[in-house]
Amino acid sequence: MSLGEIAERCYNMTTSYLEVSTNSIIIRETQDAVRLTRRHLLEDVFTRWSPLNGEISFSYNGGKDCQVLLLLYLSCLWEFFIIQAERSQYDFKYQKFPMENLFSVYIDLAETFPTLESFVNMTSERYQLSLYSSMREHGTKASNMSCAFGDFLKRYPETQAILIGVRATDPFGDTLTPIQKTDSNWPDFYRVQPILHWKLANIWSFLLYSNEPICGLYGNGFTSIGGIDTTIPNPYLTESKDNRSKLPLKFQWEIDNAFKKESDEINVLAIDREDQLWLKKLGPEEYLPGWYLIDDEIERAGRIKK
Ligand code: ATP
Repeated sequence: MSLGEIAERCYNMTTSYLEVSTNSIIIRETQDAVRLTRRHLLEDVFTRWSPLNGEISFSYNGGKDCQVLLLLYLSCLWEFFIIQAERSQYDFKYQKFPMENLFSVYIDLAETFPTLESFVNMTSERYQLSLYSSMREHGTKASNMSCAFGDFLKRYPETQAILIGVRATDPFGDTLTPIQKTDSNWPDFYRVQPILHWKLANIWSFLLYSNEPICGLYGNGFTSIGGIDTTIPNPYLTESKDNRSKLPLKFQWEIDNAFKKESDEINVLAIDREDQLWLKKLGPEEYLPGWYLIDDEIERAGRIKK
């Protein structure tokens, strides 16, 4: 798929999600969250920086939150294109989507799970990301966040704003605002944070409905993914009779009615063999998939300090 084709698919998927009429409180709240994020992108962000000329980049690490933001961003890019095309003197059929890639940055600080690494590579292709990483650029991992962003800005000096999939429930997230300049000791750019108001349940509802590929780690008890040395499956998702009744699946409708669904399977990718062995070494426990957990307070219970 070209960038135009995937952007159109994301637009159609998002429109279809917004048209769902249901009694589910989670879906209705998520529809509100989607509308707010889209309005913010179209009215506050795209009017300030052009999405077409490299002023806006995307901070992408394959995690569920930035994937949701990416789907929404692509849907807005398509809408932006349609609005511009309608203003043009030429008929829509003669209009070409004006971009081929989306500038994005992956900060490869820590040793990551091979499953996540493959997912980043696969989705970079699917979403036509032109993904900068220290490893790809210099052959070594980044030394720290701030230096990595500094290097990225040197390589892409036209960047003014970087989209980040942080949520208010993340550590220190409650002090953030949707658009803010970086601190004075950081490389200079605007942090654009359009999903601050999203809760964990909103993320799963939208992602499961989207039918987009989901990183295999989430299918195996992970709810938030950091480096290999600091992340384990979420202990609250240990597979047990007790947990099965304590954690009922809240997203059966989204799974059954997923966008352009072609099979009964959830579109979650297989976990890498190396990660399977690593999980076996951790212990005999089996885990429910990440989407069985919707409590924001314990979303990061698998992110451990060493
Ligand atoms: P999860 O919590 O499930 O791992 P996530 O990685 O999307 O999902 P966070 O870990 O809370 O969410 O990170 C918040 C956001 O910060 C991400 O959505 C992404 O935009 C940005 N980010 C975090 N780590 C990196 C990284 N290593 N490289 C690029 N961007 C990153």
